[in-house]
Amino acid sequence: MNILIANLGSTSFKYRLFRMEAGGAEVVAKGGYERVEDHAQVISDALDNLQNDGIINSPDEIDAVGFKTVLGKNLSGCVTADQQTIDALEGFAEVAPAHNPPYANGIRQFTKALPKAQLVALFETAFYQWIPEASINYAIPKAWREIGIRRYGFHGASHKFIAERSAELLGREDVAEAARRLYLDGPADFASAPLRIVSCHLGGSSSVTGIRNGVAIGTSMGFSPQSGLPQNNRVGDLDSGALPYAMRKLGISLEEAERQLTKEGGLQGLSGVSNDIRDISEAAEAGNSDARLTLDTLIHSIRHWIGAYMLELGGIDALVFTAGIGENNRDLREAVCRGLDGFGIRIDPEKNQACRAREADISADASTAKIFVIPANEELILAREVYRKLS
Ligand code: ADP
Repeated sequence: MNILIANLGSTSFKYRLFRMEAGGAEVVAKGGYERVEDHAQVISDALDNLQNDGIINSPDEIDAVGFKTVLGKNLSGCVTADQQTIDALEGFAEVAPAHNPPYANGIRQFTKALPKAQLVALFETAFYQWIPEASINYAIPKAWREIGIRRYGFHGASHKFIAERSAELLGREDVAEAARRLYLDGPADFASAPLRIVSCHLGGSSSVTGIRNGVAIGTSMGFSPQSGLPQNNRVGDLDSGALPYAMRKLGISLEEAERQLTKEGGLQGLSGVSNDIRDISEAAEAGNSDARLTLDTLIHSIRHWIGAYMLELGGIDALVFTAGIGENNRDLREAVCRGLDGFGIRIDPEKNQACRAREADISADASTAKIFVIPANEELILAREVYRKLS
């Protein structure tokens, strides 16, 4: 089965073509376009390129297209990408303005460009469908809840992969298989001790998720991608009282406050240096105290959420680091794990320093919990879910 995974931004289009079989997945082509003004044109160009390169003989050979959609109004899961999906994305366009409109548009374009292909959307919120209700509510008036304000969670594709892969690494094939089949069968029951994972997706945007037996029990991201840990340029969690106070004191409009919280907040806003951890770390080493404080704030926030889920899970079998920062930033990993021996989490400094952008167990022999680095591969996760849905 040929599955094209479409990654759509407001001015970008990237794709990977997977050849999927029961035994595995192979990337047979990839490409992308930046500074896109006409998405229909670049989609058509990409399909031409695939034919010119001899990857496919005709666009009809693309069996399915997968979309990593973010947030739908009254819609989640792994679903056929149709008009209902477009409506759900547009219904929450203002909650995820960088993500929802390009995907709604992209689904429309692919419906026209590949009329015979099956289009599938995997919502980032899908992984959080089974979170207990008590932990998705905000204490807000009923009318606010009725317009859909609650915690949703994001990075679902990434954390689901961690749920599958960490169970495999821990030799729990029963849990791994249940995690793989989660969107088809729902949560499974296990007689044996529950497998308890805390997954840290630390990248351009970041979140921490607690996972029991392959199913998310809670996540740091809430209603919008503006929540949880400090992000690249986005604020993360903020007391709702701060917004009206800042607007009045600084004399700024709601639109300007929103702009500042999405573009000038996060690691960028706090450090005043950069939104990239590499630059911030360099500045901190050179003695910049704001940069040092930014790193400490991020580490504090990661530990805060790890602690929350360790308590809810009643302990931890594996702590996992993934995405750009989690895979590469060895000092941050060590700082996150500092002083957690009493909870059975002990990092091996040498193994940690030796591990960069590859899968590894970096826990010390005396650690009762494993500490894993697992590279993220969201396109692969998407291809697998589309394949599972259609097979
Ligand atoms: P996105 O969330 O946009 O997909 P990534 O997961 O690639 O982004 O994460 C981006 C972040 O990862 C950057 O801010 C950078 O700080 C960090 N990062 C990426 N590569 C490295 C590296 N080689 N060393 C240290 N940090 C890195």
